[in-house]
Amino acid sequence: MLIIGPPGSGKGTQAERISERLGVVAISTGDIFRAHVKGGTPLGVEATRYMDAGDFVPDSVTNEMVRNRLSQDDAGNGFVLDGYPRTVAQVDYLDAILAAGEQELGVVLQLTADDAELVSRLLGRARETGRSDDNESVIRHRLDLYHQQTEAVVARYAGRGILAQVDGIGGIDDVTDRVLACIGNVLGAPVDGR
Ligand code: ADP
Repeated sequence: MLIIGPPGSGKGTQAERISERLGVVAISTGDIFRAHVKGGTPLGVEATRYMDAGDFVPDSVTNEMVRNRLSQDDAGNGFVLDGYPRTVAQVDYLDAILAAGEQELGVVLQLTADDAELVSRLLGRARETGRSDDNESVIRHRLDLYHQQTEAVVARYAGRGILAQVDGIGGIDDVTDRVLACIGNVLGAPVDGR
């Protein structure tokens, strides 16, 4: 499955929880990039200039990285992918990866929240963790890119009938409960709660 949501919607947190409940690996492109940046790898050096500006890392880098990650053994039984695809070109690329591996998407979960809430959450996170892309102008740019590019990704999956939308406002546990109920509905089988 995929989890899609604007920056600050809590998709990383919920992806981890879904991964535990479903017993499949959570894969976050943002986390993979940040690990490369921290490790000072060539990919990290390339990615950091885009990330710090709130821009998308180019597809030439991102697509290949996702393909490699999904080809690892632990993704063979399914996965929760967080942060990819963000553009319709990435949707096409993911379709090709999955077709080659004879895998199919079960659910695409969209977490929603309004921009005012997202900006306030991200500014709070900036004070706590100092993520280099959490300052107000970069936050607004990341939100703009979400509206301009990633909403079209959501529309694509809605057209395929596999989109589930969940309100991301509220306590973390409440959102998890909603998410698990929603996934269960789409899959046609209940997913165990806490
Ligand atoms: P957020 O959703 O809060 O912006 P992420 O941790 O998901 O945070 O992503 C951080 C950054 O990593 C993005 O701003 C972007 O620069 C890069 N990134 C992550 N996923 C992708 C992707 N699918 N395509 C291009 N860039 C990406």
